Amino acid sequence: MSAEYKIGVIRGDGIGPEIVEQALKVLDAAAKKRGFFLSYTDIDMGGCSIDKYGVPLTDEAVDAAKASDAVLMGSIGGDAATSPWYQLEPSKRPEAGLLRIRKELGLFANLRPSVLYEELKDACPLAQATADKGFDLIIVRELTGGLYFGERYTKNYHGLETAVDTLSYDEAEIRRAAFKAFDIALKRRCHVTLVDKANVLDSSRLWRKVTTLVAEGYPDVKFDTMLVDNAAMQLVKDPAQFDVILTENMFGDILSDEAAMITGSIGMLPSASLNDSRFGLYEPSGGSAPDIAGQNIANPIAAILSASMMLRYSLDQDEAADDIDRAVKKVLEDGYRTNDIYSKGCKKVKTDKMGDEIAKRL
Ligand code: NAD
Repeated sequence: MSAEYKIGVIRGDGIGPEIVEQALKVLDAAAKKRGFFLSYTDIDMGGCSIDKYGVPLTDEAVDAAKASDAVLMGSIGGDAATSPWYQLEPSKRPEAGLLRIRKELGLFANLRPSVLYEELKDACPLAQATADKGFDLIIVRELTGGLYFGERYTKNYHGLETAVDTLSYDEAEIRRAAFKAFDIALKRRCHVTLVDKANVLDSSRLWRKVTTLVAEGYPDVKFDTMLVDNAAMQLVKDPAQFDVILTENMFGDILSDEAAMITGSIGMLPSASLNDSRFGLYEPSGGSAPDIAGQNIANPIAAILSASMMLRYSLDQDEAADDIDRAVKKVLEDGYRTNDIYSKGCKKVKTDKMGDEIAKRL
């Protein structure tokens, strides 16, 4: 019997609906080719939910997401300077919906791939020889612990205003993130690098201890460690040395933006947030781009590659994911470009045409 999967679809705001439409088109073509079925349930979140229901995420929307095998999302939010959504108190704004859904679904691991495509390497800001080598890495960032979730306060000590933020991890939080990283490495080039600051921080020393133990259960995966200051340098010097980078929340926040920037084309990058089971929320790394919304000129590739990640990491349909990744590479080789990645001599296409061309190549 063919497999059938229930996908929650958050089209969201701005360019969200336009790029999700292309991702669904490509998903349908991939499912047809590989003989499985996808059913879609629309879920409102963000500004569109505020307009309909007065809140960025309803309980019904959370239930619909929980009833899905995975959720594919466009993006949410609007222009903070002009949109009425940002006149509301922070807990009612579009982004509050995203924070709540991450919490409700227990999404503790954030995956951010960073890939330099041969055809787009002129946009890479790194040295020519480094760009020529290319790179394809993924950062697995712990998303729900560490400094951003620790106790924090500002107090007056001995007449001086003093601010305190605390960074704490327990071994269970580290272990589950480490398992994710090693499982992902098995689907890639079998190499995990733990990035930490173990020469200074107790929390980093615990990360090393726990991750080293997890690594023992994965004899086929090469495991090494690197201090975060060195990792920041190595990402610009020789990103090709990395396959899977595993790191805690704040280091991951910073390094994943650095890793995105060195590709030179952030509109191409997908992301995923995963929980303890195979469930995940998949979305482009970029935002809702209100400046170009509704014009059919947004780049749908980040959304399409998010769909590919969903097939790989939540649905175990690796062959269909490979098909999509190959189709994206082929469409770039064939010279198709949306406005944001256009260069002279290429064929400039609209959002829907880019989706058509990728679907055609499956
Ligand atoms: P943004 O990523 O939306 O836009 C930054 C620039 O990149 C803009 O010039 C935009 O046109 C361009 N861009 C982004 N995606 C593109 C694409 N697919 N194709 C072509 N060009 C693209 O960032 P911003 O302007 O800082 O944020 C806009 C809104 O998005 C805000 O409300 C912000 O809160 C929200 N946001 C949402 C998410 C999310 O849904 N997870 C993430 C980041 C930002």
